Formats: sequence, C-alpha cells, structure tokens
Amino acid sequence: MKRPPIIAIVGHVDHGKTTLLDYVRKTNVVAGEAGGITQSTHAYAVTHQGQTLTFIDTPGHEAFGAMRERGARVADIAVLVVASTDGVEDQTKEAIRVLEETQTPYVVALTKTDMNVPLDKVKNELMQAGVLLEGFGGNVSWAGISAKTGDGVGDLLDLIILTADVANLEYDEVSPVAGYCIEATKDAQRGVTAYVVVLEGTLKVGADVAIGDVAAKVKALEDSAGKRIAECPAGLPCAVVGFKDVPPVGIAMRELAKGEKVAPPARAVPVPTRRSSAKEQGIVINAILKASAQGPLEALTAAVQAVAVPEGCKIRIALSGVGDVTDGDVQWFVASETKQGIVLGFGITATKQADYLAKANRIEVATSKVIYDLIDAMETCVLRATGGAILGDLEVLALFGKKEGGKAHVIGGKVVAGEMKNGAKVIVVREGVEVGTGAIENLQTGKKEVGRVEVGNECGLLVRADFDIRVGDHILIK
Ligand code: GDP
Repeated sequence: MKRPPIIAIVGHVDHGKTTLLDYVRKTNVVAGEAGGITQSTHAYAVTHQGQTLTFIDTPGHEAFGAMRERGARVADIAVLVVASTDGVEDQTKEAIRVLEETQTPYVVALTKTDMNVPLDKVKNELMQAGVLLEGFGGNVSWAGISAKTGDGVGDLLDLIILTADVANLEYDEVSPVAGYCIEATKDAQRGVTAYVVVLEGTLKVGADVAIGDVAAKVKALEDSAGKRIAECPAGLPCAVVGFKDVPPVGIAMRELAKGEKVAPPARAVPVPTRRSSAKEQGIVINAILKASAQGPLEALTAAVQAVAVPEGCKIRIALSGVGDVTDGDVQWFVASETKQGIVLGFGITATKQADYLAKANRIEVATSKVIYDLIDAMETCVLRATGGAILGDLEVLALFGKKEGGKAHVIGGKVVAGEMKNGAKVIVVREGVEVGTGAIENLQTGKKEVGRVEVGNECGLLVRADFDIRVGDHILIK
C-alpha cells in the first residue's frame, strides 16, 4: 500500500528551514524559539494537491549534528535549503555529504528569492559542491522560493511529490510495526511522550512496543495536530503516550512479540567522588546535565564534552537526564562532598527546592534555553576549578601594544569575577589552559590610576609577562 513520504529539511542555520516549514504548515514556530534555534524535533503531516507529506523538523545548529544526520536517515526525501542571499556554507556542505552518504533523494530549495539576488551565484556554488541542478548541467530538481511570500513553495511541494512517486514508497499494513523515535519528552502532566514516525505497519492503541530498552503499552496516540487517534499508519508521525521511562531518540521503535519482555533501562548510579581520589587523579569537574528532551540532552552532552580542559583535568558527566533540575540533582553534589562542578539545565528550570538547596550549599546551577549560555557557564566552572580559589578574573578585550622590549603588555579588559588589584601576581589562562604567570604593574579606569577594580567594570592594565597575551585570555588573581 502507498504511504506518504517522510521529508527532512536540511541546510545551514538561518537559511530559512524553519520559516519554510512554518509556511508549509501555516503556524508560527520561529517567533517562539529561544536563541533562534529549533531545539526540538517533531514531525508534521500536511496535504498538498490531495497528497499527504510528512515533514520532519530538524534543528539547525551544529550542536545538533547527530540529530541532523538522523533526520536525513529516517527521511525518504530531503529538501536542501540554500539561501540565495548567502550561498553554500559549512552546514550546507555537511548536509550534502550526509545526503550522499545515506543516498537520500533530495530536491533543492533556493530560498529568500524575495530579496532579488540573482540565483546564478548560488547555483554555481552548488555545482562546485557537487550538486548539479536541472538546467544547470545536472538533474537535481530545484525551486526558487520565498518562505516569506510563499512564492514557489507550491512548485517545491510538487517536486517533492514527483520525487516521492519515483521512490515508490509502500508499506505493508499487517506487518509488525516499525518506527523511528524523533523526540521524547517528560513532564509532570503527561508523563513520557515519544514522538515517532511510523515506517512499517500500523501502530494502534494497545500495542506493545519498545524503543531501545524502554517498553510501552500504547495508552494513547495523537496526530501531529494534537488530535487523539486510534491508529497511525506508516508514513505518518504521531505522539505515543505509555512509555514507562524516557526512551532514547534517534533509534528504531519496534513492536514486541507476544510475551516478549525488554530489559529495564540502565540507570545512572551516582558514585560520590571524594576529594582525595580527585587529587590523585588530577582535577575532576563533575557536571550534571538536564534537558527538556532526549535530543537536547544529547546536544548538551556533546557541547559539554567539547569544552577544553587543561591537562590532567577532566569533566565527568556524573548524571544526566530529562526533566527539570531537582533537589535530587543538587543533592548529588552535597552527598559527594565535592562542590567542584555544576548542574546545567537546557530548556528547563530548576525547582524551588533545587534552588534552595543549591544556594544553601553554594552549588552552581545554570539553566538556559540557549546552549551557548550553558557552555559559557561550564567554561567558567572549569576555569574556577583549575585556578583554585580565584580572587579575580579579568577577560582580555583589547591589546594596546607592548612596552619594555615586549615584556610589559598594555591591555583593556573586563573584570568578570572578584576584583583586579594593582601589584597582584597573575596567572594567564587561555581556553582553560594556563599559559604563564605575570604581575599587574599599573591599573587604570577612565585614565586614572587606581588600586583595585571590582567585578563588572572595564579597566586598562599594564601586565608584566614574558609571553604574548591575546584577546579572550583570562587574567586570574589567586
Ligand atoms: P533556519 O535557521 O534555517 O531555520 O532559518 P529561519 O527559518 O529561522 O530563517 C532565518 C531568517 O531568515 C529569519 O529571520 C527569517 O525571517 C528569514 N527568512 C527565512 N526565509 C526567508 C525568505 O524566504 N525571505 C526572506 N526575506 N527572509 C527569510
């Protein structure tokens, strides 16, 4: 039996993926996104010329690299979005690589045509990236579109339908259900919800399914408009309620055979790190990661693992999970007798009890809807942990030259913690790694020499040091 195609929109950030999807399903997601990044992946079914098309909303930032690849893998067809105003960029190239590796058929949408930039430049760049467009020496279908005015979007959807016809997508109604989990969330009202697309068979309320090791007797199904449905055939997305725990995303959902049991999911067991063992092994900075859903949690985990740490020092992800930051998370630090670390929450908040416990025990908790804020917090935490008790931390914002044969540096910067003190010995840290030591020989604010400058203020300083100091370095007083 014929089934609707599953379509992923891929391309560089800001090239118009969300706006296009938004136009297609006539709602407004862009305005509500924190930091302008799509932070949750779901799928939406729409109709065009009487045919159903299922779009997967894939996030655009590189922190979501793994998820984006998944988008291309589960999709039958991809739309490669390239803004006519910007041309081929890094993530465009990465998307092309993924599409080719996974042999996903795709059409190209040259977006932002309402800006009236001639399309030759972007077509040329695509050719150089190995994408030969129809009418331009190749056979890759394309449409010039404006997601703002809707111009050309109908043509693009026509091309998708043609591509789907060629792919001849079918499914077997009576075969066991197979699907793919795009996203999973947990909240107090609904419990766990898994967002899946069904790829084979028909998913019905009452079915026994599993995603990885997490099983469910399907209690309720909702279509992409949030309407309760009794069953969901292949090619369509749905929300599945009934999982006992948050299932992993980006892997298959399968139907369980009669009587088949899955092993309960492995849980992270907090293992307290005592200071003595931390010292023997170098500095261990513990991070507890929480996020609104499994996908963002993976993105946060990848981002935290990429934070640079000095030699002999490491970031250990002590616990991670989906849901708000709770007092239980903070309690881990209290119990482990190490305050070296941080609790990070992505797209969620900390409960009142968690806040209270964190303040009482001086444990740092940072929550944000923007991943960069959390990376910043992690970096600052590393700096603090590796620098011992820091009395002052200045970020170098500008260099105004050197004096005394290159041994004294005239610097402009901002005090980001504690205070800067004239005459103090300093450590210079670059990307979390100590590069050398020196001393402050002169400290000025507003061209006046001062003894100290407090946190939050900018100042000029003369630092004696035998090595180069760069913008972005941190000057620490211990
Ligand atoms: P994404 O990161 O690829 O999802 O990009 P968005 O859909 O968030 O779009 C990035 C920016 O480009 C937003 O400010 C949009 O309003 C704008 N934009 C997207 N499509 C168009 C278009 O067709 N025409 C114009 N003029 N602006 C667009």
